[in-house]
Amino acid sequence: MYVVSAGPLDIGEPDKAFDAAHCDHGEVYELSSEGRIVVEQNVLAVRSQGRVAIFETGAPFRDTGSNPLHAGLVSAGFELDRIDAIIPTHAHLDHVGGIMAPAGHRNFRNAAIHLHASDVEFWLADERLGTRGEHSALVARRNLVPNLDRLEFHVDDQETFPNVTAMHTPGHTVGHTSFVIGSGNDFLFVVGDIVHHQCQLAHPRMKMLFDTDPDAGVETRVRMLEYLALRSMPAFFYHFPFPGLGYVERVGDGYRFSPLSDRKWG
Ligand SMILES: [Zn+2]
Repeated sequence: MYVVSAGPLDIGEPDKAFDAAHCDHGEVYELSSEGRIVVEQNVLAVRSQGRVAIFETGAPFRDTGSNPLHAGLVSAGFELDRIDAIIPTHAHLDHVGGIMAPAGHRNFRNAAIHLHASDVEFWLADERLGTRGEHSALVARRNLVPNLDRLEFHVDDQETFPNVTAMHTPGHTVGHTSFVIGSGNDFLFVVGDIVHHQCQLAHPRMKMLFDTDPDAGVETRVRMLEYLALRSMPAFFYHFPFPGLGYVERVGDGYRFSPLSDRKWG
């Protein structure tokens, strides 16, 4: 397994991202960078039974320079045309936005795209246009509509790829799905956007304002953080500081992140 960065992502001012009513306001601001929250986009590449999957694709890359995700995958030994599966946790723009190139061709020519059916239905629906989620909906259209024949819908609690089991974790979006990778006693949990920032570990009941259903988002976050802490299961966080690998530990009413620094895992 490798982790490759798709570059930083600015998610805006803290009070536009988090409902900070549950915690000290200054504490949330202290954790932001220059008044805004800039998070990572960590893409996990996994080889299993001779096939290759990447988890997430990053936001649409519009710079003229080389795409950091593509360069990182190639330098880690992965050929873009030999990636078999793209497995986004959900259909937000920073997760599916790198499926298509700005010029309109596929970045990963031979990859199937594994998503939860309800997320595809939700983000491609006309009802999203004219709402707060319109930008993400338009990016989802641009990246998913040309690939409708390549979509594979995962089923909760079943393998969607060799040694990758889907776990429906709704709230952030209707079809948000986490994954358990591995077999035997060797597992890695792909968190996705149950958590965006470490302040949500200290304050897991703080609402995330980008969640489609913020109450369900809180319920899922608390349940899954407890799951990870109880099992001491290694976890992979898309938006945490690179490479986003570590353990969740319980501290009082909250949790903390104990990072692993190795870029290569297993
Ligand atoms: Zn995200």
